[in-house]
Amino acid sequence: MYQSFIGLEVHIHLVSKTKVFCGCRAAFGDEPNTNVCPVCMGYPGVLPSLNIESMRMGCIVAKSLNCRIPEKTWFERKQYFYPDMPKNYQISQFTSPLGQEGCLDIEGKGIKKRVRIKECHLEEDAGKMIHTGTASLLDYNRAGVSLLEIVTEPDMETGEEAELFIQQLRRMVRYLGVCDGNMEEGSLRADANVSINLPGRGLGRKVEIKNLNSSRFVRLGLNYEIRRQGALLDAGKTVAQETRLWNQNRDQTEQMRTKENAHDYRYFPEPDLPVFTPDTAFLKSVDDALVELPVPRMRRFEREYALTGEQADLLCDEKALADYFEEAVGEAEKRSMTKQDGAARIANWLLTDIKHILAREGIEISAIGSFKLTPRRLASVVALAAQGQVSMKNAKQALETAILEDRDPQTLIKERGWEQLTDPVKIAEAVQSVYAAEAGTFAQIRTAIAGGNRKRQQTLTAYLVGKVLALTGGRADPKIAGAQIEALIKQ
Ligand code: ADP
Ligand code: ZN
Ligand code: MG
Repeated sequence: MYQSFIGLEVHIHLVSKTKVFCGCRAAFGDEPNTNVCPVCMGYPGVLPSLNIESMRMGCIVAKSLNCRIPEKTWFERKQYFYPDMPKNYQISQFTSPLGQEGCLDIEGKGIKKRVRIKECHLEEDAGKMIHTGTASLLDYNRAGVSLLEIVTEPDMETGEEAELFIQQLRRMVRYLGVCDGNMEEGSLRADANVSINLPGRGLGRKVEIKNLNSSRFVRLGLNYEIRRQGALLDAGKTVAQETRLWNQNRDQTEQMRTKENAHDYRYFPEPDLPVFTPDTAFLKSVDDALVELPVPRMRRFEREYALTGEQADLLCDEKALADYFEEAVGEAEKRSMTKQDGAARIANWLLTDIKHILAREGIEISAIGSFKLTPRRLASVVALAAQGQVSMKNAKQALETAILEDRDPQTLIKERGWEQLTDPVKIAEAVQSVYAAEAGTFAQIRTAIAGGNRKRQQTLTAYLVGKVLALTGGRADPKIAGAQIEALIKQ
């Protein structure tokens, strides 16, 4: 067996409003070549200037990945020619990237591992080439958009680990609000490097799989490569150092270009941009933007709220949902529920009924913060249901109506008479009507009891309770109704 080594280079689009070195709008889907100016089009003699927001977002990610932010960070020109890059060089970082030597602990699906981060560097994206049948078209709207590249050390060993790394990183940058993480649209894409070798021999000769736009393709591509390279070595051949692409139609990697010699990009310091020296105010603004990250938050949810790992995972998928949950639990505690009881009930509502309603209405979970059903409103209904003042069915109806009509669910419950009916006299009226209409069923229950058929007795009794509930619009307290029916049976 061979040892395998995987290192990832992940590119994320930062959500800054303007491009990284000019004032052009950084937006997608606009009319081609409308967000361009002499700077990002590479006209001679123009001067780039650094977008400080992009630098800040880059540093926020770097810090969250436990990287060191150097005292001085600067930019280099990386020279190469490609039609989608009008300047014929890319402004990037080489000798002193904004984030250095960090790590990310990946955890879950039976994996627990520390992946070292080599660096995070800020650079500009290239334009987009669109190939038609006869010509290639160029859209430079994306040229100059802020890109952060995160480079890991070759610490991962399987496609599954790399997939988990990408998923965890994606959640993290979404939590930090610096990238939308949309992989299909290319906001987060990865190049995956992989080599294999005999155990103890260190790194092998690496193959790079470029431009992976789904974490699943990262896993599939890497596992395919590990097998392919293993078969080559088994056959006494060597692995060629090359760049490959994942072909999702054939489920295999295919050669894109050979890479005998590393590119000579002739990096040199960008003469038109000053060295960036983060001052205390800048560093403080970075620290102020740090948030509790998804994995530690999940662990805390399990401990503090006694949730299962799966519940914690689902609730922490989106920061907005996790925030909403915690606020709702706080509101439940104000309504004299214990933290863990409130948490269990609220988690249940959020992950089942409310999730279904949102999915059906096409409301994004991430929009839950601006949601009509505020955490306070949700907690008020959950508390009523817990105290038996409203049935589960009517609680659900109240929440649904509250979402659709933007109303206070507690008011709705009062207005529409959805409160639980607990008055024994009122319930007795309904029970008497059922007794009159279902005399046969009562007789059958008595026969069942006499014959010792408990199962049949229970089924039929439940049927009668159901009748009472139907008569009272689902409002009768089923416990009281059940007790009254039992009493009638024994008569
Ligand atoms: P390059 O100069 O070809 O871009 P780098 O040293 O910058 O190579 O590394 C790029 C990525 O490839 C990093 O994520 C690194 O961890 C990974 N990598 C480097 N060498 C190997 C190897 N032999 N096997 C697997 N991954 C590697
Ligand atoms: Zn521009
Ligand atoms: Mg490199």
